[in-house]
Amino acid sequence: MQRIVFCDFDGTITVEETFVAILKKFAPELSAKLIPEMYAQRLTLREGVREILQSIPSSSYGEILEFTRKQPMRPGFLELLDFLDFQGVPLVVVSGGLRGMVQVVLGATQQRVHAIHAVDVDTTNSLLKVHSDYEGETELVAKVQVMAEYPVNEKIAIGDSLTDLNMGLEASLVFARDRLAEYLNQYQKSYIHWNDFFDIRDYLLKSWSSG
Ligand SMILES: [Mg+2]
Repeated sequence: MQRIVFCDFDGTITVEETFVAILKKFAPELSAKLIPEMYAQRLTLREGVREILQSIPSSSYGEILEFTRKQPMRPGFLELLDFLDFQGVPLVVVSGGLRGMVQVVLGATQQRVHAIHAVDVDTTNSLLKVHSDYEGETELVAKVQVMAEYPVNEKIAIGDSLTDLNMGLEASLVFARDRLAEYLNQYQKSYIHWNDFFDIRDYLLKSWSSG
């Protein structure tokens, strides 16, 4: 394996950022208190997201998935997967959100991604219980730890937000939109700006066929 693509889910594969909307919808009071603290970086994502999720009743989990299922995918994702299949390059989904959310949006398409790394929830008790295989110091899913599991020459990252910053800094090539692009500017890390997955497919097609 020489190349691999790491792709964020929330606000990247989905058009809208769904996870924060879910936290706000299902735990409004705690979200109002903790989300601004996380944005201000006075509270880590690991602590804040865990605390909010673990305040949500397990009985709401079905409703969370139904809410997520309606979220549209950003155009070109299937076409990017077709292209990567043809090139023999795997795509790994790396999400700080819930695995179930990724699965309902991808549907049958999840068979076509190499792996999904996300937060797992246990619904056996009255409140959700959170588990992550890649818990970092500040993140519930430390995306760089996921990347380290794949020893590959060329790591390509696709993302949209702060939670993709470390992944972007670590990658050999980054596709950034929205806030991720601004953060990468601050770190003077070069990136390719993208709007939809057709942009990414077209860029890779051009760059791999000329290289
Ligand atoms: Mg995102």
